[in-house]
Amino acid sequence: MSKLLNYIFGTSMDFNMTNYVNEFEEYRTLINIKRCEKLGKVILILNLILILVDITVYKPMRIGNVSYSYLFYSHIIVFILILLWFAFFKLRIGCRSKKSKFYYHIFINIILYWCVFMGLNAMYISGKIFAYFICILLLSTVLYLNPLEAFITYFISIIVVNGGLIFIISNLNVLYSDIINVTILSLFSFIVSYINFFSRKKNFLYEKSIMASRSELELVNQKLQQYEREKTDFYANISHELKTPLNVIFSSEQMMEITLNENGYNNLKINKYLKMMKQNSYRLIRLIGNLNDINKIDATNFEVKFINSDIIKIIEDITMSVAEFVEDKGLSFTFDTELEEKIISCDQDKIERIMLNLLSNAVKFTDKGGSIFVNIYLEHNNVCISVKDTGIGIPSNIKDLIFDRFMQVDKSMSRSHEGSGIGLSLVKSLVEMQNGNIYVNTKLGEGSEFIVILPDTMSSEIESVKNPCSIVDGQVERINIEFSDIYD
Ligand code: ADP
Repeated sequence: MSKLLNYIFGTSMDFNMTNYVNEFEEYRTLINIKRCEKLGKVILILNLILILVDITVYKPMRIGNVSYSYLFYSHIIVFILILLWFAFFKLRIGCRSKKSKFYYHIFINIILYWCVFMGLNAMYISGKIFAYFICILLLSTVLYLNPLEAFITYFISIIVVNGGLIFIISNLNVLYSDIINVTILSLFSFIVSYINFFSRKKNFLYEKSIMASRSELELVNQKLQQYEREKTDFYANISHELKTPLNVIFSSEQMMEITLNENGYNNLKINKYLKMMKQNSYRLIRLIGNLNDINKIDATNFEVKFINSDIIKIIEDITMSVAEFVEDKGLSFTFDTELEEKIISCDQDKIERIMLNLLSNAVKFTDKGGSIFVNIYLEHNNVCISVKDTGIGIPSNIKDLIFDRFMQVDKSMSRSHEGSGIGLSLVKSLVEMQNGNIYVNTKLGEGSEFIVILPDTMSSEIESVKNPCSIVDGQVERINIEFSDIYD
């Protein structure tokens, strides 16, 4: 039967309710009782009105027709029964048995058999049994009765009503047609009640499963946040731990270099090893610095110091400071600008890191005899800085991925260029922190052009620096660090 109804009405029963059966039963009982309370109030008011009508309008009819007297008494009896139901129910407030199905079953039966009586009584008066029909339809839509409850309720009422009809109606044709009507309508009410019950059950389960997965997600989220905090602390800690011995190695190497120079000791092999030590120290310093920075960016505590500064001067200074190094690598180097001066709000330190990163990549990926161009121009209220090379270029299918962290075009152990794959992702973050953008035009075998776009804006709240301090002032170390991946 249930399979047939499922097939017809699509009320699937194949969901797992085992965990929630008790919860759903409690919930359903509570809702049914609440609805009975509301219905009870409506019926009390309705009966009061009916009693008034009985007393005023139907009073003369009661003399000649006993059915009107039955109506009058039934209204009074139901009014009293509902009042008693309320009293009984209210006296139990706070008690657990308040959730008992007993309350709504009592209520249903009071209403149902009142309507059965009214219906049968009306048969005498007008030959219509509407009160019973209205009642079972109302119960099947307003309350959530499980199939067994609904079946018992409707089945017993059908027997009582049909029994009453047999007793009242003498014309067989009318009797059969009324019995068929009552049976069909009761069956229809049973089906409505069934659909009502199962759709509520299905919704309940659905809400429960959503709530369960939400709390599961929250738990996972909390764990992830905890993991993120631990990871950030770990990075900060490990960077510090790596830096300390590295600084000792680096200063020892520098001391050795100074001591050897002071003593006039000039040995090619020793100088070569010292240089190797120095360059690899720079590489480690760069790697640790980059790791620390991406960690800070992830933890969103990477500070940007906006200052109104001359971007042309910043780019020119940084470019010029590496010119000699680039040319030493056998590359031609050109700097060009459309503008003499352009004051914008930016972070000089970060611009320098962006430029050093792009320039070191250009040098790294361009063979001897190639060229590197740096160009600045204005476009649509933006300052565009282009770093272009005639190097190896990037395959078109990978070009959009190179800004991803740890992404390298050549991932093989035997790759010809050193690097960690952090540089461009860091550059992208540094550019975006200044409300800018970066993209690349490239062709495999022909070269690449990285274009940094910064908004041409000035802040009125911050100071202006026309001549930002040059990178050459004590920052040669930074160039050595940023270019440390490039070997002779
Ligand atoms: P890495 O430290 O490995 O250079 P980057 O994030 O700076 O990491 O660059 C990621 C990858 O993008 C590089 O490994 C390289 O394959 C490619 N790439 C970056 N710049 C250039 C360039 N100017 N020419 C060709 N390929 C480049």
